[in-house]
Amino acid sequence: MQGKLIKGIAGFYYVDVPAEGVYECKAKGIFRKDNTKPLVGDDVEIEITDAKDYEGNIVKLLPRKSVLIRPAVANIDQALLIFAVAKPEPNYNLLDRFLIMMRRQGLDCIICFNKTDIAGAEQCIRIREIYEKSGCSILFVSAARQEGIEKIKKALMSKTTAVAGPSGVGKSSLVNCLQEGTQMETGEISAKIERGRHTTRHSELIAISEGTYIMDTPGFSSLSLFDIGKEELKEFYPEFAPYEGECRFLTCAHIHEPDCGVKRALEENHIHKIRYANYTTFYGELKEKESAAKSTKKRGNRR
Ligand code: GDP
Ligand code: ZN
Repeated sequence: MQGKLIKGIAGFYYVDVPAEGVYECKAKGIFRKDNTKPLVGDDVEIEITDAKDYEGNIVKLLPRKSVLIRPAVANIDQALLIFAVAKPEPNYNLLDRFLIMMRRQGLDCIICFNKTDIAGAEQCIRIREIYEKSGCSILFVSAARQEGIEKIKKALMSKTTAVAGPSGVGKSSLVNCLQEGTQMETGEISAKIERGRHTTRHSELIAISEGTYIMDTPGFSSLSLFDIGKEELKEFYPEFAPYEGECRFLTCAHIHEPDCGVKRALEENHIHKIRYANYTTFYGELKEKESAAKSTKKRGNRR
């Protein structure tokens, strides 16, 4: 039987078998042998040892499509970033960092703006303009009014999605809406899952419907861009691409260079000012990090 590892706690692995339920499994040393550790998100084959109590053994790890490092989880297909249209106002700097981090790990992004019930239509239009050429899909929803929930479900269908967002934007409210009607955690199965809840936070997949999972990523409030060279940064801005051919220099960073197609497009409002401003901020941060690393190295050499 095949399932998805949704959670691992203290030597037990919880495997969701669609239309069946969650089995509490052991791994029987098969992983120690080939030196791999099962990860949340892994597709596995199990043998059932006790059908009534939903117990079994993981007998095989199926090939991984991908592995995410932060947090460690396998086979994530995409990311859903949740922000609010207001209360709190979107932090575009944080949002763009999220986008870069997710894209860096090869994930497509859906941006979901919640709380449309407390903002005017103009605010939504303004936000849409910022991200319309960013290569992400954009959704506007309201957990309070239960509006747009079906659109989110459709975007998540049959995929495993990492969900992230700052606190206060309504992430828990939306995740609750998405889980409504999910019959997975009933009776005994629920008791098995609950057993691990009191321990420290682990990454965990939540089944939304058969074959559809989300992973609630702990809320982070600030992020540093990791392991990106400043020259690579522009690759995370799809809206720059149509204009880069017009730059005089092939290596143009679109910052101080003369005759820059991207800056021209910015002046002509083809590229949004907020997106470009964050780009220059991040570029500056990466540049600083690189020169700090260089001077540390120099000092090291002198010793
Ligand atoms: P989280 O910190 O992102 O998990 O956010 P919560 O789900 O705990 O919600 C934070 C606050 O926003 C709570 O007071 C919610 O009642 C409120 N909230 C959540 N969704 C909506 C919404 O769609 N509209 C409005 N007006 N408030 C919402
Ligand atoms: Zn340029």
